[in-house]
Amino acid sequence: MEERKIKGRILVTGAGGFIGHHLINMLKSDGHWVRGVDLKKPQFEPTQSDEFKILDLRRWENCLAATRDVDQAYNLAADMGGIGYITLYLAEIARNNTLINSHMLEASRANGVKRFLFTSSACIYPMYRQEREDIISLKEEDAYPAYPEAGYGWEKLYAEQLCQYYKEDFGLDTRIARLHNVYGPLGTFDGGREKAPAAICRKVALAPEDSEIEIWGDGNQTRSFLYIDDCVEGLIRLMASDWREPLNIGSDRLISVNQLAKLVIQIANKKMRIRNDPSKPQGVRGRNSDNTRSREVLKWKPSVELPEGLTITYKWIQSQLT
Ligand code: NAD
Repeated sequence: MEERKIKGRILVTGAGGFIGHHLINMLKSDGHWVRGVDLKKPQFEPTQSDEFKILDLRRWENCLAATRDVDQAYNLAADMGGIGYITLYLAEIARNNTLINSHMLEASRANGVKRFLFTSSACIYPMYRQEREDIISLKEEDAYPAYPEAGYGWEKLYAEQLCQYYKEDFGLDTRIARLHNVYGPLGTFDGGREKAPAAICRKVALAPEDSEIEIWGDGNQTRSFLYIDDCVEGLIRLMASDWREPLNIGSDRLISVNQLAKLVIQIANKKMRIRNDPSKPQGVRGRNSDNTRSREVLKWKPSVELPEGLTITYKWIQSQLT
């Protein structure tokens, strides 16, 4: 990837969040100048960005300030969380993210940003393709006819379209990553916005020996989980590529949530029982990423196996709790 080595000014929004923070670390180690923007600074360690601005990107003038004098923008800022959070706040999430994404696209156009990457989500895929545990992996073209996750998913799908319109009408060179369940250290693990792997690691780390942990749903719902380093590598490769259509960035190893919990219990080397609570939100029945196209386009596939990535994540969450 020759372009990866070119020095340029790069903006990362959502820089105080999980993926944005790791992305900045990788961009800095590649030798780039990076501006980070977020409502807050990273929670667990200082940012390595050259410049960090605290800005609310729902506001137009802040998006203009964020995109000034940059060559590339990675637009990760979003109101988001795990399944409990995104099913609870439909209007607020949709409104906040609509404002961020529409202003960020227009400000990038106005300021002459050369390339713009949007982090979409597997939540854009239609519910009717995700009704069984042994799901057929989702290909990029499966997105339509549309029936995405309410609120968060509809907004992401709409913002994908907006990226395409800005490309067609104004020549803004956009990239669209459809991320599937990213996990790893330095991510939220409590407070309600955490996702399943972090929540399970926290529950297992806090539970006394020979007790039980609660797992949402009947536990047979299936997902795939992508380790953070693989996610960041995928985003940087996609930005450097000439692929302008949406692209899955995910793992294609399918696992049930109960199996995921058993794996964490094994990693923790604890004796523990699982109690499922079917009254809690569990999202679609099954979801997996088809990586055929991303392997072709990015000449790459995820490299960190789930037990390895979960071990690192569990140890980090455990260290934060003691
Ligand atoms: P995160 O919540 O850790 O980071 C998002 C950041 O955006 C937060 O730091 C938040 O403060 C910031 N933000 C929210 N509203 C803002 C505003 N008005 N102005 C400025 N900043 C604002 O989430 P993440 O896991 O790092 O996700 C990054 C991106 O990837 C998001 O767009 C998310 O939708 C997408 N994504 C993530 C996953 C995943 O599994 N983590 C899966 C699919 C898609």
